[in-house]
Amino acid sequence: MEKVAFIGLGAMGYPMAGHLAKRFPTLVWNRTFAKALKHQAEFGSEAVPLERVAEAQVIFTCLPTTQEVAEVAEALLPHLRPGTYWVDATSGEPEASRRLAERLGEKGVTYLDAPVSGGTVGAEKGTLTVMMGGEAEAVERVKPYLAYAGKVVHVGPVGAGHAVKAINNALLAVNLWAAGEGLLALVRQGVPGEKALEVINASSGRSNATENLIPQRVLTRAFPKTFALGLLVKDLGIAMGVLEGAKDPSPLLRLTRELYEMAKRELSPEADHVEALKLLERWAGVEIR
Ligand code: NDP
Repeated sequence: MEKVAFIGLGAMGYPMAGHLAKRFPTLVWNRTFAKALKHQAEFGSEAVPLERVAEAQVIFTCLPTTQEVAEVAEALLPHLRPGTYWVDATSGEPEASRRLAERLGEKGVTYLDAPVSGGTVGAEKGTLTVMMGGEAEAVERVKPYLAYAGKVVHVGPVGAGHAVKAINNALLAVNLWAAGEGLLALVRQGVPGEKALEVINASSGRSNATENLIPQRVLTRAFPKTFALGLLVKDLGIAMGVLEGAKDPSPLLRLTRELYEMAKRELSPEADHVEALKLLERWAGVEIR
C-alpha cells in the first residue's frame, strides 16, 4: 500500500496523523522529535528523519503558518520525487501558498491547500471539515487519504481553501466576542449565563460559540488550551488580506481583528482563543457564569 507522511504533530496534527496511521503505512516527523516517537508508540506510525518523508506518495503538513511549511518544503526539496502530492492542512496564507505550489511544481510535486475546521475534538474524532484548493483531479486523487475528515469540500484553485478558512475563523471571532459582550450585559441584569444560553441556543442568536465554546469552557471556568489566541489572530490577519483583495467595505471584520490583537497583547499569544472573553470580563468587573 502507498505510504503517507505527516509533518507537524501539534494539537491538531498529532490526532490527525493518528487516523492516517490506522489506515495507511504512515511516516511521521516533528521538530521536537520526542513527539514523533510517542506517536509511533501510540499509533504504530514510523518516526523518521525529515528526508525519509520524501518516500511517501502523499505528504501532509499541519504547521502554524505557511512560512514554516515553506521552510520544511525547502529542506525537503532535494529529496522529493515527481508524482508526490502535498496536502497542507495548515491554516495558511493564499498568496504564499500559490508561490509554494509553483516551487513544488518545479519538482513535479502537486500542492493542495487543505485547511481544516472542527478543532482538536474534531481531529480526535476524525470528523474534521476539510476545505480544499487545487485542481479537481488532484483533489479526487488525495481524497481517499483524508482519514481525519468528516466532510471534504473542493472550494476552488490553490489558495481558495486558505481564503475560506480565514473568513470562517473571522466569523468564529465575531460570534465569540459578540456573545461575550451580550452575556456579560445579561449577567449584570441578574440573568444567569446558563439561562441566557438556554434561550439563545433555542433561538436565532445561536452559534458554535453559544452552543459549545461558552457552555463548555467559560461557564465551567475550564478554559482548556486547544487553539492558541496567537493562531486566531494570525488567521484574522490572513482574512484581512482576503478582504483587501476584494476591496469591499468590511468594517466589522477589521474591528474584530483589532479587538483580538488587543486581547493577544493583554493576555498572551499562548492563551486559548476563548480566553479573549476574560478581557471583556476584566473590563466589566464580572464573570460570565
Ligand atoms: P500547535 O502549536 O499545537 O502545533 C504546531 C506544530 O508545528 C508542532 O508540531 C510544532 O513542532 C510545529 N512547528 C512549529 N514551528 C515549526 C518550525 N519552525 N519547523 C517545524 N515545525 C514547527 O498548533 P495547532 O496544531 O493548534 O495548529 C496547527 C495549524 O492548524 C495552525 O495553522 C492552526 O491555525 C490550524 N488549526 C488549529 C486548530 C486548533 O483547534 N488548534 C483548528 C483548526 C486549524 P514542535 O512540537 O516542535 O513545537
